[in-house]
Amino acid sequence: MHAMRLRHPGRRLVAEAVPDPVPGPGQLLLQVCACAVCRTDLHVVDGELPDPKPDVIPGHEIVGRVLVAGPGVERFRPGERVGVPWLGFTCGTCRFCRSGRENLCVAARFTGYQIDGGYAELTVADARFCLPLPEGYADAEAAPLLCAGLIGHRALRMAGNPARLGIYGFGAAAHIVAQVARHEGRQVFAFTRPGDTVAQEFARGLGAVWAGGSDEAPPEPLDAALIFAPVGALVPAALRAVDRGGTVVCAGIHMSDIPAFPYEILWHERVLRSVANLTRADGEAFMALAPRVPVRTAVEVLPLAAANEALDRLRAGQVTGALVLAP
Ligand SMILES: [Zn+2]
Ligand SMILES: [Zn+2]
Repeated sequence: MHAMRLRHPGRRLVAEAVPDPVPGPGQLLLQVCACAVCRTDLHVVDGELPDPKPDVIPGHEIVGRVLVAGPGVERFRPGERVGVPWLGFTCGTCRFCRSGRENLCVAARFTGYQIDGGYAELTVADARFCLPLPEGYADAEAAPLLCAGLIGHRALRMAGNPARLGIYGFGAAAHIVAQVARHEGRQVFAFTRPGDTVAQEFARGLGAVWAGGSDEAPPEPLDAALIFAPVGALVPAALRAVDRGGTVVCAGIHMSDIPAFPYEILWHERVLRSVANLTRADGEAFMALAPRVPVRTAVEVLPLAAANEALDRLRAGQVTGALVLAP
């Protein structure tokens, strides 16, 4: 099969012909129909995350068709469409797994990072971690639900019950979360790179009551803010934008250093927290919710061979909605 592999972190992906993967016990062999490009892929490729699998194939927002169900798999059958998310394996026995927090599993392994992912024509996945996908979404439209959607949704849940929600970084996750937040009756305030009027217009089109640069103050104090951009300086900016008792959630896996800030912007019971990974329950809950909103994803489909160009555009902020690779 053809795949895009990370031979050297920090360098471009290499297009290669590699042996077809073989499903082991409990695994599915999938034909990759679509794989969305996530900012986390950029962190993997750029060498910002430690110890990737050698020569890893990135991609963890995979929509696939089951070709072969390995020994012992009863949950999915050949021909079914499934989603493969970031969480690819958990141990089931550590204190986090046993307390409903498998997203924090000490032995977790992640798709497109420690397990080969979806920048390929075929992939194998542990059937226990695959998700059924809602009908009514084309393959490319469903792909961004698998990380941008469901981790964005987990971040929103961590924000409490905000009437006024700020979103910093209006990319793939934000464009989905904004729709869910509006569906729940929240007001959305979108913060983009300063001067990015295209992203601001996109945010207003999705129902944001205000959109501006991340260097601007919102017109009124916020109850919570989600930070999707990997920019540490946004943390004090968001703390200044939230009201007393407000929550700031950092939703990314990697961020530049957070500058020192005065305690007074955290004082008055403001909360600063991160969100890490997902549980299978998060995935199932979000896949049930998405068609009820209904979430509509804005996608641009590129061929698999254009994975490097896709990553370049994501790095440069030249994406409206989500980019999706199709083999
Ligand atoms: Zn565990
Ligand atoms: Zn992701």
